Amino acid sequence: MSDPESTSRPQRVVRSVLVVGGGLAATRTVAELRERGFDGRVVVLGAEPIAPYDRPPLSKHLLDRSTPTWLRDEIGADLPVLADEVRLGSPARGLTITAAGVEVQTDGGPLGADAVVVATGAHAVRPPGWEAALTLHTAADADVLRAALVPGTRLVVIGAGWIGAEIATVAAAAGLDVTVLEATGDPLGAALGPAVGALTAPWYAAVGVHLRRGAHVVEVGGNGVALADGTLVPADVVLAAVGARPTTAWLGSALPQEPDGSLRVDERHAVLGVPRSVRAVGDVALRRSQRHGWVPGGHWDGALRGPTDLVADLLGTGDPVVDPAPYVFSTQLGHELALFGVRHVDDEVVLRGDPTGADGWGALWFRPGTDQVSAAFTVDRPHDVGAARRLFTAAALPRLDRTLARDVGTTLRDAQR
Ligand code: FAD
Repeated sequence: MSDPESTSRPQRVVRSVLVVGGGLAATRTVAELRERGFDGRVVVLGAEPIAPYDRPPLSKHLLDRSTPTWLRDEIGADLPVLADEVRLGSPARGLTITAAGVEVQTDGGPLGADAVVVATGAHAVRPPGWEAALTLHTAADADVLRAALVPGTRLVVIGAGWIGAEIATVAAAAGLDVTVLEATGDPLGAALGPAVGALTAPWYAAVGVHLRRGAHVVEVGGNGVALADGTLVPADVVLAAVGARPTTAWLGSALPQEPDGSLRVDERHAVLGVPRSVRAVGDVALRRSQRHGWVPGGHWDGALRGPTDLVADLLGTGDPVVDPAPYVFSTQLGHELALFGVRHVDDEVVLRGDPTGADGWGALWFRPGTDQVSAAFTVDRPHDVGAARRLFTAAALPRLDRTLARDVGTTLRDAQR
């Protein structure tokens, strides 16, 4: 898995770092630099005009927290203390790789540094014809959505993914009339596949949310949502929750991009195909993992932990790669969910426990015909969360006995081969 373009060149000494993006990955990068004793110049450019904040509470606490959960309080990293200069409300406009290092274009002129870390995250998708729909990615989006969700509102959420389910949960708990439209037929289908995703469908009715499966949206208008079958789903507020894409348009053609805009990086977050002075981390990055292959961004834990491998390599500490297991968590529809690893479409699914029982359940994805596990999912099983995390700490995928793993009476550790 070595890439000659990004791993074999000697690295020049880094005396200045420019971090682009003012979110979790950017904040953790700066904190990691200082924790490792870097005393060079650190400058941060952030597009949003407010201090870094945590995004998961925007959905889970939409209606009971009207101010952002600041990362300063949440992860104890205070950018103005750690960085030499923090420019908020100041988006990067472009990037140029020069003989001396890297230059980033801003409205106030170019900024140069020995190394640049691209941590510009993602933005919510809003397809053409859906202009009347709201989206939720920023604290400003949350303010708009919160203000719109007054008592008596009919809310239609398009997309039964992580964020759609979370918003449906809090809106229904507040007494709103909530309908979730899902085109593919199965909630969380993109993350869990249809068979496991379908097992979460009964959760919607249980908390008073109407779930319409196989609902293909063609347009969002002032009165509601027009479906491909000609029906109109009436709505006062429509939220498009159909995913996010990496925010890399500002780079133009300066760095090689995947069709979805993500930046392919190696295990240490060096962008492939360009000098190692350019790194990417968090939601923008498609990371190469020895254990999992290519790991897309889009989840909190990757933005939190990615900077460890990035900074260690940038500073030349010689530390081995941590290669954190991909991990997603969610609180939705009365359940606590955790997903570790990367699922493949040809994996074979084994259910752990009884999805209709009271003890929680889970799913394990095995490589075809083998005992190798590529992903593990848990529902309301806190003990399995820690065990599943531990499964993915070795260099290779874990191996489990399928029969033992089905039984929630056997710990995942005891099911390991
Ligand atoms: P971001 O948090 O998106 O931060 C990137 C920052 O870069 C933004 O502030 C952006 O304005 C800035 N930026 C963009 N362009 C530029 C530019 N040109 N110049 C300068 N700055 C720029 N993940 C989970 O695992 N579990 C959850 O429960 C969960 N809940 C979520 C709920 C919501 C509502 C949302 C939106 C996300 C949730 N996530 C969750 C995903 C998680 O929050 C993200 O994976 C994480 O925030 C990624 O961090 P990041 O720093 O890469 O990107």
